Amino acid sequence: MTTIVFATQNPNKVREIQEMLPAHFKIKSLAEIGCTEDIPETQATIEGNAIQKARYVYEKYEVDCFAEDTGLEVAALDGAPGVHTARYAGPQRDTNDNMDLLLKNLEDKPDRSARFKTVIALIQDGVTYILEGIVEGQIAMARRGSGGFGYDPVFLPKGHSISFAEMDKAAKNAISHRGRAMAKLLDHFAARD
Ligand code: IMP
Repeated sequence: MTTIVFATQNPNKVREIQEMLPAHFKIKSLAEIGCTEDIPETQATIEGNAIQKARYVYEKYEVDCFAEDTGLEVAALDGAPGVHTARYAGPQRDTNDNMDLLLKNLEDKPDRSARFKTVIALIQDGVTYILEGIVEGQIAMARRGSGGFGYDPVFLPKGHSISFAEMDKAAKNAISHRGRAMAKLLDHFAARD
């Protein structure tokens, strides 16, 4: 049995990856190791935050673990919102406010290219591995669709004519930043199995 902690407070994320893994892989939540405090996320990059979260859990609880961090990078905004994606329009972390601000900031920009990036930092037997998933696309002129979450209504993945919010969940997961990063994590586990 290989046990590994997923450094997230979101039980849905823990369940999702557990269901993708063979039975002898046990993903533990932070709650299961008694970690209920907020984990610091104070770095200037998405990768830095993922590493910071994983290292915090590894050092404090002495367990193999991984953490993920995600951001939206918009070319015409020099990579913003990036590490500030969740709180782009302010500390209230409101999805609608965030999308409104993004659309406003792109009003006069001809280049609307953007990408979502997920970085997973995995610490296993003291070694740190970085696994990255990226989906390229464009920011739409206005919201489209009602599915998904976060910035999905304004993100048009490259090669598709619909937004993430207009896609069904499986289709989105197959091409999304998080789906791709998770696939790399599963490959990593399978290779060491
Ligand atoms: P987190 O790291 O998963 O908390 O995501 C950081 C920010 O990116 C939040 O504002 C999310 O709403 C946004 N985000 C992450 N993944 C997605 C996605 O798949 N679609 C739209 N927004 C996302």
